[in-house]
Amino acid sequence: MKKLIHWLLMLSMLSFLLPAGAAEEELKFVVRNGSREEKKIALTVDDFFDTSWGWKIRDMWHDFGITGTFFPLGMSILPEDREEWQRAIDDGIEIGSHNWGHYKMGSSDDLSILSSLGRTQQTLDAVLGYHYQIHCFRPPFGNTTDEKGDGTVFHRAVKFFGYSHIILWDVSQTDPEMALRKAKNGSILLFHTRKKDYDCMQAIIPRLLEEGFQMVTVSDLLGFGPNEISEELYVYRKEDYQGR
Ligand SMILES: [Zn+2]
Repeated sequence: MKKLIHWLLMLSMLSFLLPAGAAEEELKFVVRNGSREEKKIALTVDDFFDTSWGWKIRDMWHDFGITGTFFPLGMSILPEDREEWQRAIDDGIEIGSHNWGHYKMGSSDDLSILSSLGRTQQTLDAVLGYHYQIHCFRPPFGNTTDEKGDGTVFHRAVKFFGYSHIILWDVSQTDPEMALRKAKNGSILLFHTRKKDYDCMQAIIPRLLEEGFQMVTVSDLLGFGPNEISEELYVYRKEDYQGR
């Protein structure tokens, strides 16, 4: 625990030392797709307002022998679903973060953003019973700017937790024909835990497989490697971030 906090604090101090000219680098931090050279695609599913559709999607992916990334809200990760989340991880699905309660973060202050991300990581760890390091963050509404208008506060907060990138998407379609027309090498497809999204995936996955696409997690698509796992649960403490 101490080690993790130490590391997080170091990260935050480093990010504060970034020169003003780092804005260009900050923009690369927001990703909409992977390499256009490889026949890989990442399916992603947001929210988990209705977890039952989430589990159906997980089982469908399992049956097709593919995987992808879930971006649940912190408030959607419930203790009674522990086994369901674990099954998803066992199936090779990656868990990202979609913030705590689906609020638009751009208008939030620094501490609210930190709290929203921290509570989500804490809840995931508490439900799983071990630390699962989240790599990818997807902001609700794809909003990546903040009150300053350049995303700096927001990006800094995301980096504070050691998340690799802010993950957006390049295809948002629940019409199968439209989705197939737009999906290409490196595409990140956005879906939600709803029936029409389930139906769309059921229609497009076999066709994408036929076309030779590999369907992988966002971390795999972007070359991040598997999510690190350790024994010590992450605990969010407001005082750790105050004044940072
Ligand atoms: Zn959402």
